[in-house]
Amino acid sequence: MTMPTAPVHTTMNQFSTAGNQLLVGGLPLRHLAERVGQTPFYAYDRNLLRSRMAELRLALPENIKLHFAMKANPMPAVVGFMADMVDGIDVASAGELKVALDAGADPHEISFAGPGKRNTELRQAVAAGVLINIESFREVDLLANISLELELPARVAVRVNPDFELKGSGMKMGGGPKQFGVDAELVPELLAKIGDHKLAFEGFHLFAGSQNLKAESICEAQQKSYDLALALSRYAPSPISFLNLGGGFGIPYFPGEIRLDLKSIGRNLEQLANRAKADFPGASLVIELGRYLVGEAGIYVSRVIDRKVSRGQTFLVVDGGLNHHLSASGNFGQVIRKNYPVAIGTRMNAIQTEIASVVGPLCTPLDILADRMTLAIAEPGDLVVVFQSGAYGASASPQRFLGHSDVIEVLV
Ligand SMILES: *Cc1c(COP(=O)(O)O)cnc(C)c1O
Repeated sequence: MTMPTAPVHTTMNQFSTAGNQLLVGGLPLRHLAERVGQTPFYAYDRNLLRSRMAELRLALPENIKLHFAMKANPMPAVVGFMADMVDGIDVASAGELKVALDAGADPHEISFAGPGKRNTELRQAVAAGVLINIESFREVDLLANISLELELPARVAVRVNPDFELKGSGMKMGGGPKQFGVDAELVPELLAKIGDHKLAFEGFHLFAGSQNLKAESICEAQQKSYDLALALSRYAPSPISFLNLGGGFGIPYFPGEIRLDLKSIGRNLEQLANRAKADFPGASLVIELGRYLVGEAGIYVSRVIDRKVSRGQTFLVVDGGLNHHLSASGNFGQVIRKNYPVAIGTRMNAIQTEIASVVGPLCTPLDILADRMTLAIAEPGDLVVVFQSGAYGASASPQRFLGHSDVIEVLV
């Protein structure tokens, strides 16, 4: 095993190399591509998923429960693998609920959030016995009826739209006017209604934002979430047994981005867990993570079809792009397009490099995987790897757009 000498983005060194080949799940990339039988494909590395969990368990206090927000990667094999390691699965649709249940996740440890839960989805959730994070007054009425009809108590928590934001997060999902949750100031009224209807109230869910690399901001949001939950708990119809403080842990994608400082988050959660012993005796404190658990364990692999030079600029045209990996193309919520870490996975030891752009096969200028990056000199047949691709990849991409073949996903 040799370390790469080619210009490889620093955030990808979770993978090692053998000669020119990137190693994925212990297999040289070309070998893996043969095993998969086609390009493009996503590959997720079990060992990396496992070591990320171990790292988190070490950094966070023992009594903090870790949930996997499966929308980050709903591949059934991944969900099954994660279900065995985490303390619960967070789902956001009946479709995800099915995958989680099929994967063998304990219904008692599944929670269901989302702003537009349909009647049928709520019925399925009650029947499954999962915890439903209520996001509107409408859901309380519906759940009351469903509980009576099915003769099953609906297990509920209240998703609170806090009166603060998660500073510096890539995507804000709380604070100000939001479609998510119930505004904090309306929660006392909602709790009274939950009590009137005798739903099985368990606690609160607060989620302020996503993709945050600033530990300070995350700690601040966790503290504020805790304090808000404490204030609201005065109005609760029964004691709190569940307090989900959200997540938002980010991963580095772009040059200069610095890995999240888990130690300070661990210390902060330890303080909150200690406070909770008095404030919420017996309650579980939960952190829900998606991207942080799976993002760095995955790569997207495509094959160079063509190599073109247009007016001095080199283009590597590969067999997949934004149709499979919208995020890497920069079209999934990014304000300014930046390159994900990309390498030629079959030339990891190359000395000679060039500036090249990697583009997909779609007839749109948006289909870019790498814009003028320094890469090993590649030829048709070489495999291009996009790192940090284990979250919001295949399931977050418009696969039908332009009618190319679907991407395959493998867990190795
Ligand atoms: C999307 C989402 C998550 C996961 O966010 P990541 O940035 O992938 O960690 C967690 N909780 C809720 C409520 C979400 O909507």
